[in-house]
Formats: sequence, structure tokens, C-alpha cells
Amino acid sequence: MNQGNEHIQTSINWDEIRSHFPVLQQHVNGKPLSYLDNGASSELPQVVIDRINAYHTNEHANVHRGIHSLSQHATDAYEQARKKVRALINARYEEEIIYTTGTTDSINLVANSYGRKHFKEGDEIIVSEMEHHANIVPWQMIAEQTGALLKVVPVDDQGELIMDEYYKLLSDRTKMVALIHVSNVLGTINPVEEIIEAAHARNIPVLLDGAQAVPHSAVDVQNLDVDFYAFSAHKMCGPTGFGILYGKKELLDEMPPYRGGGDMIDKVTFEKTTWNDLPHKFEAGTPPIAAGVGFGVSIDYLNTIGMEIIEQREQELLQYATKKLEAVDGLQIIGTSSKKASVISFLLDGIHPTDAGTILDKEGIAVRTGHHCAQPLMDRFNIPGTLRASISFYNNEDDIDRLVKGIEYTKEFFG
Ligand code: PLP
Repeated sequence: MNQGNEHIQTSINWDEIRSHFPVLQQHVNGKPLSYLDNGASSELPQVVIDRINAYHTNEHANVHRGIHSLSQHATDAYEQARKKVRALINARYEEEIIYTTGTTDSINLVANSYGRKHFKEGDEIIVSEMEHHANIVPWQMIAEQTGALLKVVPVDDQGELIMDEYYKLLSDRTKMVALIHVSNVLGTINPVEEIIEAAHARNIPVLLDGAQAVPHSAVDVQNLDVDFYAFSAHKMCGPTGFGILYGKKELLDEMPPYRGGGDMIDKVTFEKTTWNDLPHKFEAGTPPIAAGVGFGVSIDYLNTIGMEIIEQREQELLQYATKKLEAVDGLQIIGTSSKKASVISFLLDGIHPTDAGTILDKEGIAVRTGHHCAQPLMDRFNIPGTLRASISFYNNEDDIDRLVKGIEYTKEFFG
């Protein structure tokens, strides 16, 4: 991630890019839509919608098991996406790309498969105070079953991990470090290179929740040397119900399957069943084929712009929005790290986030309100929730100006 430090010359026409997204062209509550909830789910460009429609219209068949042409065609289209994901994150092998239903599913897979095999009484799993529930609860559940314990890296007032505390928590009892790459609430980009290096010095594997990192920057899993990496298609211009677990081949090879059923087997008898090779060992049952095919086109779409250029544009918009919001009287930004992705959480003096979000919605401005699936982080800041504007490359300065105007109107409304 270059956090906008390097200036990349671009000739991208951002208005044209915005016109690729049909959802953004509509009015909501009689007002033009300013969609600033991209952290929850991003929108789909027409090419992705068209590809999914074409698949359903002309190409649908089950994958991996049919000899007939339609099934083979569907299999090819579905497996093409795996090649694109591999290239996107620079994994070494295609088998290291496991299809899941999303980040949550990917983390559950590792917790259940790796955790059940390796964790025992007294072992420790390191998470942080800024985790999404998806990177807390699966570990908690497996800890309960195995007798392992969760250890939590605290967060400082700026919304950064307190690295000294991380170093103190690392010990011979640590069996997994599972941390968020970019916070969905604070926007903080965590120092994952340093985190991984310190864990590896003790032979501890690291899982990163990359749900908010891959959509906004170029991620290279070989460079990071990360052991497991999880993300979701629907946050990167793709469909819901589809996601990725990257895992190093040598780790995935020795992990038992997580779910049993069709496709994940080699030979089944009532006495004994043997497993299929990677990646299919972890992909039981009929998968979300159309979503996978569509996600391949989402990756193509992002690549035609370029992840570095996307990151640079989002950093521009982040800086613009931060400056504008900082100037609003009675507005407090939660999460002021110097290294941030394009997410801004904030509070308005004396106005509950849900009330403010409702008024903004009436103005056609979609922001998220609440705890953002990070209740421990809300407890850390002693707040019930925040408003959150999460910005994508297809947003523009006008969306941000409308947000600021909407906030001023909200303040007037509540007197
Ligand atoms: N982790 C982070 C940081 C997220 O922002 C999200 C979604 O908001 C998730 C995990 C869960 O993703 P999904 O619901 O796609 O599994």
C-alpha cells in the first residue's frame, strides 16, 4: 500500500467510471444517490451484471462433474476466476486459492480445520481490539472446544494497534495470530509486515482479514509472506455469496477438510473416505458458480483501472473528506491513524448515529450507522456506535460535499 505517497499519473475519466455503475444513477427518496457504504458492500459495474446474466441465460450447468459441453464450459468459466484471483494477490499456486462464501466463511474454515488439528488446552490465539466479529467469534468458538485462549492486542486513542503490547503477547503458547489488515471502522492500515515478521520469528502462522484491504490496494501475499488471507467478492465490485481464502500450499495440504460432501472427496466407501486434491478438498457441494464467474470479471474490471490508481484516487477522496468533516462543528472523527484507507467513522455531538443516518438517507446519502460488527472496539472507545462513510473510487467530491451539507442539515433538524 502506498497510502498515496507516490504520485501516479493517470488519465482516468472518473465520471465515465461512475457511469459504469447503474445503481449509482438512480434517485433515492427523491434525491440523487450518494452511496457511501462501500465498506459494507460495493456496487457492481454493468459488465459484471451482464456476465452473470449471460451465464444464467446461456451457460448454466453444474461444474466439475459433467462430461457434457455445457458443464465443461461452466467449469472453465468458473476456474478462470481462480487464475485471476491468483494473479491479483500474487499467490504462487492456483491450488492456494480456496473458494468460500466470503471472509467470514474463510476464517471459519481456518479456525475449524487448522485450529481443531493444532490447538490444545492453554494455547493462545492473538486477535486485536479492532477486529470485525468475523475474526473474533470463529476463534472464540474453536477456543471453547479446544481449551485455547484468546489474547487481545489493544488499540490506542488514534485507532492504532499498540505494537509493544503485541510483542509482549507473543510467546511459546501462541499458536495463531489473526488480525485485521485494514479496519472497517477506523480505516487504520495495520503494520502487517512487521506483525508477520515477528510472528514468523517464533514459527507462528498469521491469518489476515483482508476484507477491507484487497478492494483498496494491491496486495501481494508472497511479499507479505502471510500464511492465510481472507476476503469477500462483494466488497470489490463483485457479487455476494463468494469469497476467497488464500493459504500457503504446505499448510493447506496438511489441514483436514472443514465440510464434507460432493466434490471434496477422492474415494468414498462406508469404511473410509479419502480427500480430493487442493483446492477442491475444501470446496464441498455445488458452489456459487455464477458468482464465481462474475467475480472473475470484477477482477478484470478493477485491473483495467489498476489497483495502484484506485488506491491513489481513494486516498485523494479520503483527504478531501477528512478535511471537510474536520471543519464541521461538533463532529468527532473516530480513527485518526496516519495510515488510513478510505473509511471515516464519526460522531455528531448530541445526535445518535441512527437518527443522523436516517436523516441523511432522506437526503439520498447512504452511510452506515451502528457498531459495524465491532462491538469490542465500540466498548474500547466507550461509544454505542458511529456513523461511517466508506468511500470507493467511483465516489466523487460531490458525494462528499453532499454528505457535509446533509450533516449540517441534520444538526439543524435536531436543533
Ligand atoms: N472483516 C471485515 C474487516 C469486514 O469489513 C467484513 C464485512 O464487513 C467482514 C470481515 C465480513 O465479511 P463477509 O460478511 O463478506 O463475510
